[in-house]
Amino acid sequence: MKILVLNAGSSSLKASLYQFAQDLPRDPLIPLWRGTIDRHSAQATTLKVTTATNRSIHTETSSTDFSADLHKLLDCLWQGETQVIANISEVDLVGHRVVHGGAKYHQPILINAEVQAEIDRLSIFAPLHNRANLMGIRAIEALSPHTSQIAVFDTAFYGNLPAVSYVYPLPYEWLEQGVRKYGFHGISHQYCADRAAQLLNKDLKDLRLISCHLGNGCSLAAIKSGVCLDTTMGFTPLDGLMMGTRCGSIDPGIMLHLLREKKYTVAELDHILNFESGLLGISGVSNDLREIDRAIELGNARAKLAFDLYVHLLAAKISALLPELGGLDALIFTAGVGENHSGIRAAVAAKLAFLRVEIDPVLNVSNTGGDLDLATQRSAARLLRIHTQEEWSIAKACWRISAQSVTKKQG
Ligand code: ADP
Repeated sequence: MKILVLNAGSSSLKASLYQFAQDLPRDPLIPLWRGTIDRHSAQATTLKVTTATNRSIHTETSSTDFSADLHKLLDCLWQGETQVIANISEVDLVGHRVVHGGAKYHQPILINAEVQAEIDRLSIFAPLHNRANLMGIRAIEALSPHTSQIAVFDTAFYGNLPAVSYVYPLPYEWLEQGVRKYGFHGISHQYCADRAAQLLNKDLKDLRLISCHLGNGCSLAAIKSGVCLDTTMGFTPLDGLMMGTRCGSIDPGIMLHLLREKKYTVAELDHILNFESGLLGISGVSNDLREIDRAIELGNARAKLAFDLYVHLLAAKISALLPELGGLDALIFTAGVGENHSGIRAAVAAKLAFLRVEIDPVLNVSNTGGDLDLATQRSAARLLRIHTQEEWSIAKACWRISAQSVTKKQG
């Protein structure tokens, strides 16, 4: 069975094609084909494709719109250097990462017109993401109307959040209108929790975990017995940790002050909080920690402040999740920063020394690929570096739905 996964973001498009045999494997499969399109500006994009047999393409291209980008990417599946199938009809199922499933969708679901309408309706909560997801769904539908498509929701992992985690202390009517914490990055946190249990050779039911997804977007998830009890992103993906360009939690009074002063329009504030804040806003250098590191080495004080603030807020928000978990068995570092930045991991572990966690300085900087426990023997909790695999997680969810429907038919 061939499953194509589409992960359509606000500025990037990722796609992977997996080939499944009869049974679901324990470890992630290497995709037959993997492609990404990153949009740097309104016109410029980078297209990268690799295949399991080491064929690849890497080109800078011009972009006209999302749909053109998607077609350009998919063409590489059935044409040219990286061709692995003859045409789309060889794909059995297409799985989509859909960012916002609202309070309705807590499980992956077969996409029909009603599901599309709901994803569209939920775009008011995640305008950049849900619209991109929907365009991906419609593009596949246009290419191959009979191919089944499945939506896997980033918010679904938070279906069991207790009320004290998802309710904001605002007028109750607002809650009834949908103003509540939804949480994001759920596919990644879920994958990491499952993987942590595998690495530690324990049952997920016996573990208290905090998963730190630290990429351009950053969030934490507190997971006990496999259930997410709290998370740092909220009503939107702007809340919580300091991120690459997003501010995370701030005093809402700042916004009231700025609106009262009429210095900025709502659209300008939206842009500043989402794209000009966080590491970039403080350092004035970059949203990328590698560039911030270089600036710190050159004595840039704002870059140093950005780094220190990032660590301070990260450690503070990890600590805030502890009472609900009642302790910590493992802290997971994942995504671009979590997987690659040993300095951030060491600095956070040092701040959490009061928990008697201890990172092994040699393991922490080791370049061995693969998932690894970085904690010393005597550390009171494990410190896991896990390569997040959102697309694999989506492919697995699709495989399970398909296996269930086969079982049902046979039954
Ligand atoms: P996204 O949220 O866009 O998927 P990623 O998970 O790819 O982001 O994370 C991107 C960030 O990860 C970069 O901005 C940078 O700060 C950090 N990063 C990526 N690679 C490295 C590396 N080799 N060393 C240190 N930091 C890295």
